[in-house]
Amino acid sequence: MNDVASHSEFERLLAAVEKISIEVAAAHAAEVDTQARFPHETLAALRAAKILSAPIPREFGGGGCTLTQLTALCSTLAQACGSSAMVLAMHYIQVACIARHAQDSAFFRGYLAELASRQYILASMTSEVGTFGETRASICAIERSGDRFILNKDATTGSYCEYADGILVTCRRAADAAGSDQVLVLVRKDDYKLTRTTSWDTLGMRGTCSPGFQLEATGPAEQIVPGSFADSSAQTMVPYSHILWSSLWWGIAADAVARAAEFVRAGARKNPGAVPPVATRLAEVSTQLQAMRHNWLALATEFDATRGMQELLSIGWALKLNNLKIAASDTAPQIVHRALQIVGILGYKNDTPFSLGRHYRDSLSAALMIANDRIAAKNASMLLVFKNQ
Ligand SMILES: Cc1cc2nc3c(=O)[nH]c(=O)nc-3n(C[C@H](O)[C@H](O)[C@H](O)COP(=O)(O)OP(=O)(O)OC[C@H]3O[C@@H](n4cnc5c(N)ncnc54)[C@H](O)[C@@H]3O)c2cc1C
Repeated sequence: MNDVASHSEFERLLAAVEKISIEVAAAHAAEVDTQARFPHETLAALRAAKILSAPIPREFGGGGCTLTQLTALCSTLAQACGSSAMVLAMHYIQVACIARHAQDSAFFRGYLAELASRQYILASMTSEVGTFGETRASICAIERSGDRFILNKDATTGSYCEYADGILVTCRRAADAAGSDQVLVLVRKDDYKLTRTTSWDTLGMRGTCSPGFQLEATGPAEQIVPGSFADSSAQTMVPYSHILWSSLWWGIAADAVARAAEFVRAGARKNPGAVPPVATRLAEVSTQLQAMRHNWLALATEFDATRGMQELLSIGWALKLNNLKIAASDTAPQIVHRALQIVGILGYKNDTPFSLGRHYRDSLSAALMIANDRIAAKNASMLLVFKNQ
């Protein structure tokens, strides 16, 4: 198939991300975190290497990457800078929504080609003041007038919106539509105004630059993604989010374990012939890290093997994806915590090669990013009617 990345194209993208991770993202990660600033250098390097179009089919000039291949890119970058990886993952989720749900539209086919050639970055606005973290409900509604729309939204959290070329926004289909009758709308940089409503001085993921915003946008009606958000959410936004996020949370945890391993090896070199007692803790945490990796990798592989989109609407898929999100977001900070117990004070300090503060704080966002309690409550009601695990 010509719309799937050839092995050599994927290898090129992965090699480029590995190089950018080491030479650019890792070099700026501490400063991005301390100053809570956008990782401009990393994004510029990703653009230059055409990494931003990895999910776009090759016929539109993109990389044609599968979801499994995208997890490799995000998890690699996360080992250098969690915020950069989260920005890349969120961008991929938006691009995938367009690539998988809007290819029947001439406008969106042209937009995909333009995004691939200009390496646009897309942000997301699903959150809204008054919907309390429920992505499948909106208060704001699109207003149509002839072949144009007006869309205003008061979002609680909008990652890197100030640096994006466009934002995918959820809203009600019309002023008289129910809260759950939503559509996704692409708004473009020249057609919107953002007014910051809150700050972004957080524990972690500081480089995602995600304050609240009031959005005032307009545009041609062809920028409304065809179909309903109910479908694009279940078939693309949720699977891409939960799988890509899990892979990058793993990347953060993997770098923490790598630092702990380096610390243990350095200790072992000082006392040749003896295995340091703390090496047992390293063996234990590496078991947990491997299990975490295999969880997202298995689901990404299963997702790529699905035939058609219909089965992704099933309760079985919703449960699997929710279980992955809850498990990965619970496990990542546990792994970082265990790495910190291995390293001790040199991990607790912010200025050593073994520092783990940023990893710890970044990983704590995982359980909040769509609250685990909210997801568990949905699973609980689905399990009342679903029998086949
Ligand atoms: C790093 C980061 C980046 C983000 N980027 C974006 C972005 O770019 N765009 C965007 O739109 N949003 C973004 N978000 C916001 C995210 O999508 C969620 O909307 C937000 O994290 C949820 O906020 P909340 O905790 O107030 O939500 P809520 O879900 O309302 O949770 C509030 C509290 O209620 C509890 N709770 C909720 N439901 C239940 C339940 N059923 N049973 C028991 N307890 C429950 C939760 O556990 C929590 O303690 C980002 C969040 C983070 C952390």
